[in-house]
Amino acid sequence: MRISNEKINEIARANDIVDVISQYVRVKKAGKNFIALCPFHPDKNPSMNISQSKQVYHCFSCKAGGNVYTFVQNYEKISFMDAVIKLAERAGIELKQSEYAPDLNNEITKLFEINKLAAKFYFDNLIKLQGEEKDFVYEYLDKRKLKKNTIVTFGIGYAPKGWNNLHSYFIDNGLFTEKDLVKAGLLREKENNRYYDTFRGRIIFPIFNESGKPVAFGARKIYDDDEIAGKYINSPETPVYQKRQVLYGLNFAADDIRRKNEVIIVEGYMDLISLHQSGINNVVASSGTAFTIEQVKLLARYTNNITLLFDADAAGVKAAKSGMLLVLEEDLNLNIVTLPEGEDPDSVISIKGVEGFKKFLEDKKSLIEFITLLYSKDNKLSKPEDKALFVKEVISYISHIPDAIKRAFYIQDIARKYNLYESELHEELGKIIRQNKKESFPKSSVVIPQNEKTAENKKSGKIPAEEMELIEIFLSADEDSITYLENNLEINFIESKVIKEIVEIFLDELINSGEINPGMILNKMPSEEAKTIVREKSFSKYSISEYDSFDKHNLLYTPRKDTTDYRQHSRDLIKKFKIKNINKIIEEKRRSKTGLNEIVKLRQMILEIQNSKE
Ligand SMILES: [Zn+2]
Repeated sequence: MRISNEKINEIARANDIVDVISQYVRVKKAGKNFIALCPFHPDKNPSMNISQSKQVYHCFSCKAGGNVYTFVQNYEKISFMDAVIKLAERAGIELKQSEYAPDLNNEITKLFEINKLAAKFYFDNLIKLQGEEKDFVYEYLDKRKLKKNTIVTFGIGYAPKGWNNLHSYFIDNGLFTEKDLVKAGLLREKENNRYYDTFRGRIIFPIFNESGKPVAFGARKIYDDDEIAGKYINSPETPVYQKRQVLYGLNFAADDIRRKNEVIIVEGYMDLISLHQSGINNVVASSGTAFTIEQVKLLARYTNNITLLFDADAAGVKAAKSGMLLVLEEDLNLNIVTLPEGEDPDSVISIKGVEGFKKFLEDKKSLIEFITLLYSKDNKLSKPEDKALFVKEVISYISHIPDAIKRAFYIQDIARKYNLYESELHEELGKIIRQNKKESFPKSSVVIPQNEKTAENKKSGKIPAEEMELIEIFLSADEDSITYLENNLEINFIESKVIKEIVEIFLDELINSGEINPGMILNKMPSEEAKTIVREKSFSKYSISEYDSFDKHNLLYTPRKDTTDYRQHSRDLIKKFKIKNINKIIEEKRRSKTGLNEIVKLRQMILEIQNSKE
């Protein structure tokens, strides 16, 4: 690590954990803490607790948790160092170049660095093009109406013709080996250790991750003699690029999606870019795959309102249908916009202008309207048997909506529109739902967290209650109570190894900085178990039960005061420890049958402790 601990603490202090998490998920106040739907497991009721005073978060369901750095790291899937850099930027704290030279021993950091340099290489190539090659490439870009600042914003570049342009660029700068570049998907390996460039003679679209780092590339064919058939080829999957989890353009669109509370999903890079050029920014495209459930989940963090934009040709409709199912299954609001057959956003905009395009957007179709349209287009809604088929198809979509109330509304809608009995539709729906369950079981790839009790028993079943209480006091009590513990606690009072480790770190921290700051101290914890304990105990029993009652009886809710008397509690706890310790000594003497005459004295000591007024 090259950034000093002081700096890391300074940056953490400048980034309040509640503010930072609020940027990613909706956070609401509950008592003295904050709660949110946990983004790290499928969460229906808010199980993530965030403590502003302690600067930690903890999910009581999946046990994810940590400090502000952990959150950013896990949410953005970036390294610790990148989280530090990101939060430093957020707070306007300057890091000297030497303070954040990338750690190239880390594989992930290395891949990010390679992709960054490669993006720069392709971009520079486009800018520096000369002669005929330049004329040809720029003619293509003009034809696609790409504006200069769009090229800069999206980092669009050019992979020159030839087998080893990128290869020699990287090998000359000496930072990376050919194996590294193969791993990043930029070089291919021939037999006997010979390498060649993956992308040759193509327009390059860097694919950015959520936090705006290039992680892969899409390459568009422009030459007729290109021996690779595909109009687009993409980087292979790497540890920083999992196709199913990346949405092209999300880094540019995120703010706008939140602001408009809607996202428009389009089919390709160019669709997205031409919409951006027209000032429509809440747009993403799936890159190199059909739309996936992972991508839907990703979007669900930003908005509930998903609009699919598709070409009305057969392939477009097919893609729209599979996309629809995914959106419905995640219980999001779905709308569909279709463009006339053979048109894409780019062509519509050039014919009808931005305003004309916006009219298409306003003419959103609900699920039922969209399917009605498909049927009526094929003239399939006149005969009763066709109508029956139509209703069955709509119902089969509705069956994928998890929310029963929403399903009921859809059913009501169809019943009214087509003059049918709701009860019959419900019967049909029930049949399909039962059918789906049979077919799709087991379906979810999500690991369901162990229920809390078994997880608890496994990990900390052996930790005595008073040792857990000790941690709670260290984390929640006033200065006087903590000082009392500091002065009276002996480390050999503690039986559990993990609690001993935690307390030692606490005592260290008290000596060095005079206070225990859970958010900062988490990084120093020696094990996952220790971290989990500190996080859980950061939310005192009081604040959790308060949240429960808040949730269950929210009309009756009145905030309670934290009435725990830590002063007395800390004294009692030390007494308990002392007595327990003496009892242990007595036990030992009995077993070894030595010093039996001291037992009376020891018993006397216990009595004195019990009666002492502290
Ligand atoms: Zn969770």
